[in-house]
Amino acid sequence: MKRGACCVVRVPFNTTHHAPRNPASDLFFPPPKADYLSPVPELPEVEVLVRHLAPLLEGRTIRAVRVHRAKVLAPTSTRTFTRALLGAKFCGLTRRAKYLLFALRQGKQAEPRTLVGHLGMTGRMYLLPAKTALPKHAAVVLNLGRENFVFEDTRYFGRLTLDLRALERLGPEPLGPEFTVTRFAEALKRSAQAIKVKLLDQSLLAGVGNIYASEALFLAGIAPTLPARRLRKAQVSRLWRAIREVLSEAVACGSTVPLNYAGQGKRDGLFYFGSAPGAPDFYEERLRVYDRSGQPCPECGTVIKRRVQAARSTFYCPRCQRA
Ligand SMILES: [Zn+2]
Repeated sequence: MKRGACCVVRVPFNTTHHAPRNPASDLFFPPPKADYLSPVPELPEVEVLVRHLAPLLEGRTIRAVRVHRAKVLAPTSTRTFTRALLGAKFCGLTRRAKYLLFALRQGKQAEPRTLVGHLGMTGRMYLLPAKTALPKHAAVVLNLGRENFVFEDTRYFGRLTLDLRALERLGPEPLGPEFTVTRFAEALKRSAQAIKVKLLDQSLLAGVGNIYASEALFLAGIAPTLPARRLRKAQVSRLWRAIREVLSEAVACGSTVPLNYAGQGKRDGLFYFGSAPGAPDFYEERLRVYDRSGQPCPECGTVIKRRVQAARSTFYCPRCQRA
């Protein structure tokens, strides 16, 4: 296994590139029209956010619902949304792929209702003191008494909805027990797609996007263009391990970042959804190849290349990833 420097973080938010849309297999998103460079939250970022928000929301009651952008609720109407949420109590927050699943209980209702959140490209979710002015792009605001839960999204590709259909077609969680080497190998055997493109298929494994697909292939030493069905058994095992490793590493790393800041600092893109301004070097690069074209490979020094596959950027080392 190759290893780069451990921790810390990633793509600064000051990138001039446009963020990508999610793959076509994601119900909420249309297929990408052009190549975009990240940073868009993937499984680890959502997991970190869920761990941060869960204890803050537990047991809190929604006292007021304000919808500033009805688009983010679609297809749920503002009326249905408000009715379902007003007076409901948060009784759990979990993650499935890149979705946040909020469990809400209304009165004596036996079964909690699920509210699905997705950060899209630029979404952020955080608590803000109720007397603080709302950000310009607050899409939905849930008053919890002294604090507001804010879903802010400058581009409105995110979602906060009662519609659960997006969850139906998701494949196994890559860090869960259902994602076995055998199952992975069988799925790859049926696909002629380039392995990098196949890894973005949310029905194969849920929650991996452009960043971690590139990173996992690098770690496994596999060429991103290799057709999925041509991976040898040893390569499948290596890739399976690498996927789990890059994701776990990113979750562990993101979990050390303080997320108790809700402001508009330059540093609060993506992962940090609000890490404090002036916080120590959380932005030191951690990724091995992603967004590093033109820089030396951390393993062999060869210049890292970028290529476009299925309208999305792939970063790889032509020497380490020949196979
Ligand atoms: Zn290399």
